[in-house]
Amino acid sequence: MNENVHAHEIEKFGSMAERWWDLHGEFKTLHAVNPLRVGFIEQFTAIENRQILDVGCGGGILTEALAQKGANALGIDLSGDLVDVAELHAIETGTNVHYQKISVETLASQQPESFDVITCMEMLEHVPDAGSIISACAKLVKPEGLVFFSTLNRHPKAFLLAIVAAEYVMQMVPKGTHEYKTFIKPSELSQSARAAGLELQGMIGIEYNPITQRFSLGKDIDVNYIAAFKKPA
Ligand code: SAH
Repeated sequence: MNENVHAHEIEKFGSMAERWWDLHGEFKTLHAVNPLRVGFIEQFTAIENRQILDVGCGGGILTEALAQKGANALGIDLSGDLVDVAELHAIETGTNVHYQKISVETLASQQPESFDVITCMEMLEHVPDAGSIISACAKLVKPEGLVFFSTLNRHPKAFLLAIVAAEYVMQMVPKGTHEYKTFIKPSELSQSARAAGLELQGMIGIEYNPITQRFSLGKDIDVNYIAAFKKPA
């Protein structure tokens, strides 16, 4: 692979493919936050009948939820194992959704300006060049369309909570899932998006309460956050 991808990241996620939809397995946090991110997207746009692209879709947790809300959804990932899992799960649930193993940069060169909404969740921190992913998303979205990114903030609190606590103390996510130096500050994400011609619409934190063991959306963007951008007309 000579694309903008770390082979070890694709292997790491792919090796856990068969447990992707286990609500209590390695990806339980993605399942737990999924309704929150769908809710955040709905604050900016309708989902029904929209052409939506989910970049780095993994086993399709978000893609399938968007399709079930009536979107014409395409999920892309570079892990063939995960694309297979996503397709099988959609067959099991009878969801009309599409998946493809292709890089976002290649798709952008094939069909620019063809999506109303693009989502790219928890993926930018796993690639060599996040800016290239952001530019490709900006190219793929239609004018006046929306692009959503979520990632982890390179803030000491994220090191303590997303790595030390989540991976080692509470074991909510597998050890080695994240590397602090790959985390992206909100200012850096906004700047890359602006350089790609996208305008920031809103940003929200994904907060975790260890007492109730629940996630919620809130003002604290120090750890994990979602941002919405728009491509001007
Ligand atoms: N977006 C999904 C999965 C997040 S896990 C969700 O939030 O539910 C990160 C995913 O990014 C994995 O599925 C991994 O295979 C994928 N990924 C990593 N690098 C990638 C790349 N360069 N292109 C496409 N997908 C990539």
